[in-house]
Amino acid sequence: MLTIENLSVHYGVIQAVRDVSFNVKQGEIVSLIGANGAGKTTILRTISGLNRPSNGTITFEGQLIQKMLPQKIVASGLCQVPEGRHVFAGLTVQENLEMGAFLRKDGELKQDYEMIFERFPILKERKNQDAATLSGGEQQMLAMGRALMSKPRLLLLDEPSMGLAPIFIQEIFNIIKEINKQGTTVLLIEQNAKMALSIADRGYVLETGEVVLSGPGKELLESEEVKKAYLGG
Ligand code: ATP
Repeated sequence: MLTIENLSVHYGVIQAVRDVSFNVKQGEIVSLIGANGAGKTTILRTISGLNRPSNGTITFEGQLIQKMLPQKIVASGLCQVPEGRHVFAGLTVQENLEMGAFLRKDGELKQDYEMIFERFPILKERKNQDAATLSGGEQQMLAMGRALMSKPRLLLLDEPSMGLAPIFIQEIFNIIKEINKQGTTVLLIEQNAKMALSIADRGYVLETGEVVLSGPGKELLESEEVKKAYLGG
């Protein structure tokens, strides 16, 4: 579904991503893990068209997308939930969800709101509330709901657990599994390696911009290198 080949990304003279290749198959949850600054966010932003690669290709469902505008990429069926949620603070919960459907042309939103409210009951309770009044976990749910309103076939999640209390982290990961079960493919980047690998079909480990290890999520969880570097020994 998504194939990244020999991707390199620079910020001026700084090379943040070095010759990275990986793929995501339809129906999978794939996790990219790595320490702070390993290049995870840069890769996700490059897939979404927010950064431009200096080398390499990104193919989504057979189409080269690395030169496409971000809004075209969303319209083609791929949507990112950014790190730090970035909900629209001056808008209500319902209006935030509406913004997620901005690029859709089918206009049949009623059913989709119902589906989102079923999956995130707290958003229904708070639908007329300003998004700024939500807790961190609720904002993460809203950001995911907003992305789902674009009806993506591939959902990119940037650090969904960041800054959340453990109880919310568990809930968010359960929801990711549910979203995946219902047919959305997921590419997840996380510093919480344990959670990310435990729900992943496959994972890739990034270090200073390079893929250093890959394999099934469960295998990586058991790997000595991963245990030592990311799971506290
Ligand atoms: P984090 O978990 O902190 O988001 P990350 O693995 O997502 O880390 P990136 O944010 O992609 O890593 O950063 C990769 C490298 O690129 C780091 O060395 C970082 O300092 C550098 N970098 C990121 N954004 C910029 C920028 N806008 N300008 C210059 N350098 C940047």
